[in-house]
Amino acid sequence: MGSIIEFQNVSFDYINHEGLKKRALNNISLEVDKGEFLAIVGSNGSGKSTLAKHINALLLPAEGTVHIDGYDTSDEEKLWDIRRTAGMVFQNPDNQLVATIVEEDIAFGAENLGLPREEIIKRVDDSLEMVEMNDYRGKAPHMLSGGQKQRVAIAGVLALNPKIIVFDESTAMLDPKGRREVMDIAMKLNKGGKTIIFITHFMEEAALADRVVILNEGEIAKDGTPQEIFSNIALLDNLCLDVPKSVLLADQLRKSGMDIKNVFSIEEMAEEICSQL
Ligand code: ADP
Repeated sequence: MGSIIEFQNVSFDYINHEGLKKRALNNISLEVDKGEFLAIVGSNGSGKSTLAKHINALLLPAEGTVHIDGYDTSDEEKLWDIRRTAGMVFQNPDNQLVATIVEEDIAFGAENLGLPREEIIKRVDDSLEMVEMNDYRGKAPHMLSGGQKQRVAIAGVLALNPKIIVFDESTAMLDPKGRREVMDIAMKLNKGGKTIIFITHFMEEAALADRVVILNEGEIAKDGTPQEIFSNIALLDNLCLDVPKSVLLADQLRKSGMDIKNVFSIEEMAEEICSQL
């Protein structure tokens, strides 16, 4: 398995209205394997969204290089190959839906690729199936819940058949049910072979990834497995990140003498506690 995403010594500066540079990414080197599920966490302003936008060439590095499935993102001739390879799902579902009917919305991007009609129909059908929104294909997007709208946005990205899907805080505006729906779909897509980059400020979501990167002030503060990252309460506190509730509970139970491992879901925690009774 080779790397499908390669950041080499990437730095990026925004220029504000007074012409002053604000460094948003500083010397980031990061490789993501094909088929990996990588979560990116970090406090507000740590550079998560800036990093995400480098994956599909919405932003280009000031220094260093980004390669996506072998394409150098600064190669203008490859822009559409890059955008097709790496799809983005953003925070606000309302800003991503363009048509007045769900299935038209999903077809929109695929139509812009200039694919034959039958191929577009097949992709829309498959994408609707994948996000479990078939029953809503004829509905108006504004009638849907936030979670359902995000699922339509995901289907629109899927219809482009990307190898990588970047979720940039795509659960931030959703209620707990909508968040779970989006997370479940991200995990299902990953099982089907997609490489997933999942940016979130919900640590319980990040804990479901294969690997977690913490950004801090534009740099990688830590890169490790969910176990390594989320069992380290001091690290999370230092970087102003939430500690998953199950880890806090396990910590308290250990202090009262129980031999409890750190786990990240209610179900696993129940099993841990029961095994001690
Ligand atoms: P995050 O997604 O982790 O909240 P961002 O990538 O949005 O972080 O921002 C990183 C840094 O860059 C922050 O300090 C932010 O204020 C700054 N920044 C982001 N977007 C802009 C912009 N369009 N113009 C100027 N500065 C920006």
